[in-house]
Amino acid sequence: ALGILVQCRPGFEADASAELTAAARAARFTGETDTQPNSGFVIFELTAPEAHDVIRRRLDLARLIFSRQAFQVLAVLDDLPDRDRLTPLREAIAATGERFSALLPETPDTNDGKEQSGFLRRFGPLLEDALAKDGLLRPDSPHLPRLHVFFEGPKRAWLGVSLASEGSAWPMGIPRLRMPKEAPSRSTLKLAEAFLTLLTVDEQKSTLRPGLTAVDLGAAPGGWSWQLASRGIRVTAIDNGPLAPSAIATGLIEHLRADGFTWKPKKAVDWLVCDMVEQPSRIAPLIADWFATGRCRRSIFNLKLPMKRRHDEVERCRALIDARLSAAGIKYILRIKHLYHDREEVTCYLTRR
Ligand code: SAM
Repeated sequence: ALGILVQCRPGFEADASAELTAAARAARFTGETDTQPNSGFVIFELTAPEAHDVIRRRLDLARLIFSRQAFQVLAVLDDLPDRDRLTPLREAIAATGERFSALLPETPDTNDGKEQSGFLRRFGPLLEDALAKDGLLRPDSPHLPRLHVFFEGPKRAWLGVSLASEGSAWPMGIPRLRMPKEAPSRSTLKLAEAFLTLLTVDEQKSTLRPGLTAVDLGAAPGGWSWQLASRGIRVTAIDNGPLAPSAIATGLIEHLRADGFTWKPKKAVDWLVCDMVEQPSRIAPLIADWFATGRCRRSIFNLKLPMKRRHDEVERCRALIDARLSAAGIKYILRIKHLYHDREEVTCYLTRR
């Protein structure tokens, strides 16, 4: 591959770039990061091409926080003709000498990118048919890499590959989640996306089921509590503000007016979730303390990042959590992602190893 392309929320290129550059350097790759503000993506261009599996072994793309979707770059096509983009793309894809399990047609998530979404909807199936005819697309072989065709603009496309385990299942990392009619707030989708993105399918099955218990710190108006209750989980919702009637109507949510920083449960709970708007350097130790003292088994929480150097702030929080849990001798897994439904914040999942 020639490099790595990471797609991010427009406006987060500096963070995606800082993170990708650090990861590439730590993996002993030499190259340059190309970062255009508000472009919705960044590229690490390798000084010399590397084999896919060498890159894969040394750099885990799935761990990148500010990446919605990422792939290894195989080729870039410039000056695509307006009339027939299929022929040159088909030829370039054949020339890679690879076969693929799936096709992901993508653009940057910018206004310019969105103007191409109509074209992508028509063109995606055409290209898919052509590749299937050429014998290059094998949906029955999920171990094969997925093919990304990323239209930076109408004339320019990047070709790349990723394993399903490395990238998002959704093109551009944008999940198509339906807003449930009864949910109290749109942020319910944030927790739904977190479950799908941060937990494996097995983890979802074993930890999101009726009969389990949760505490929701900063719960009002109740979107996250509702998301848990919709899975049969009993929730204690902590907030001085009011909950929406639709949250109360689930019958599974108990609302307590209290301070999320001092309130403690009488019994350990399965889940602690937290969406309080507070400094990350206060949230991270609070969650680590609940976890270290056994008040919760696992947690999903947001770190709000209104500051400039968001990547640095997340790493500071990671270090705070590590210090607390390492001192207690606890082995843990911490996954962090800037989700599609996250704005100036990232979402974290903490559980025991
Ligand atoms: N997750 C919620 C939902 O889905 O509807 C939205 C939560 S909202 C972004 C943040 C909430 O945190 C506010 O309702 C606020 O009252 C609450 N909050 C902020 N500081 C708090 C504290 N110290 N204790 C309890 N709640 C707090």
